Amino acid sequence: MHEQLETLLEMQDLHMQRRALEEGGVRDLETGLFEMSAEQAIDALDAKITELELRLGKSIQERFRSLIGTHRRAVVPVLAGVCYGCFVAVPTSWAADADPNDRLNVCQSCGHFQYYPT
Ligand SMILES: [Zn+2]
Repeated sequence: MHEQLETLLEMQDLHMQRRALEEGGVRDLETGLFEMSAEQAIDALDAKITELELRLGKSIQERFRSLIGTHRRAVVPVLAGVCYGCFVAVPTSWAADADPNDRLNVCQSCGHFQYYPT
């Protein structure tokens, strides 16, 4: 899989966890030996997100930020040739690649990053 695509998916996961914590309110977590407040957990996620961001090119960082800020997802799956960001069919030439996840695809219609679930 494309290295930056992998990083983007990881970052998206962290953002989703962050959002779940925020929406869940102040419930504290028990994570193994450690007990931490939701606030601490969010701080830890933010630190990891910042660290991961450094692996991305600047334009990719900016695209990711603007997408995750306005949509729930920045990276969307392509299933049966359809982008799940906008439900528009993707050009078939893309999906015909040996492994389309080896490149970083951006939807020409909605601008989301795309990945192909296997
Ligand atoms: Zn799309």
